[in-house]
Amino acid sequence: MTSLHASAALPQASVAPATPALTAPVLASAIDLIGNTPLVELTHLAAGLPGRVFAKLESRNPGGSAKDRIALNMIRTAEANGELAPGATIVESSSGNTGIGLALVGRLTGHPVIIIHSGFISVEKKTVLLAYGAQLVEADWEAGPEDPNNARALADRIAAEIPGAWRSSQYENAANPSAHYTTTGPEIWQQTGGAVTHFVAGIGTGGTISGAGRYLKDVSDGRVRVIGADPVGSTYSGSPASTIVVDGVGTRWPQSNWPGIFDPGVTDDIRVIPDERVYDTVRRLAMDEALLLGPSSGLAIATALDVAAEADPGSIVVVIAPDGGNNYLTKAFNDEWLASAGMNADGFADGSSD
Ligand code: PMP
Repeated sequence: MTSLHASAALPQASVAPATPALTAPVLASAIDLIGNTPLVELTHLAAGLPGRVFAKLESRNPGGSAKDRIALNMIRTAEANGELAPGATIVESSSGNTGIGLALVGRLTGHPVIIIHSGFISVEKKTVLLAYGAQLVEADWEAGPEDPNNARALADRIAAEIPGAWRSSQYENAANPSAHYTTTGPEIWQQTGGAVTHFVAGIGTGGTISGAGRYLKDVSDGRVRVIGADPVGSTYSGSPASTIVVDGVGTRWPQSNWPGIFDPGVTDDIRVIPDERVYDTVRRLAMDEALLLGPSSGLAIATALDVAAEADPGSIVVVIAPDGGNNYLTKAFNDEWLASAGMNADGFADGSSD
């Protein structure tokens, strides 16, 4: 009171225009929104199970997915080691989310971004990439490793034609898993007070499971179980390759062509979830938990529920929900698209009859 009264009495003319007192949290840019994502307990879907299930909501990153973490780490690392010069172009082959992360971080670090994508990318993701100013090139996602139309081969060719261009190569870049070793893993450990018993994640490049999984193994002296979630049609589980209908996860390539950064030694188990259950889980997450998440979250969370069902009482299962559902409104939440992908949504959780 006294000091307020005293300062109010100062001659106003001698006081410089005041800078408004900003109270925390005030962030310098969208880059500071990357990471530190929340864990939300799935109290409805996991009700009655011996283990508790917590989803790590990577959709809370500014670009809407876990890939913002690796985009930032890959760019910062390449800038620091001189591979990426100021203003140089970044070229990446991506199913969408890594492209969005790179496009977003590229805006703020001064790098143009060219994204090689598959024809299967959702309209929503494509529109977001364009909004962040990325240039898009479509590749044949089905082309094998030796085919010149293969996405990675095409990205290599485009990068070679642009002076100074840099291939971020998320499938081979150690800054991909290290982003998760240094951020995602430690966050989970801190958020659970070291009580996490199981860690579940899907496998696309393998960066998330290799980085966060390895960290959680290291910090717990091997106590934390690491479980991969694989879609039907992916060879990560040892199954034969066939069509994969879950965006961003699984591989159709033989083990000799798996991403260099995927560390299969970190997984204690890799489980396959049928496509119908993946998409039913996505619907149930929206209906029962009010969480609008993407298909790979449905895959990982269905796996986490199975793990929690078999776990000892009091187990703490943390599962990565890599992105949100808004990018899949025309797919996961559209019965016609599901039918075209061979699924009948009649029995799925659905709010339409309420
Ligand atoms: N879900 C989605 C939607 C993705 O885009 C990705 C990355 N391809 C993953 C899961 C898998 O993450 P990671 O590449 O770290 O294995």
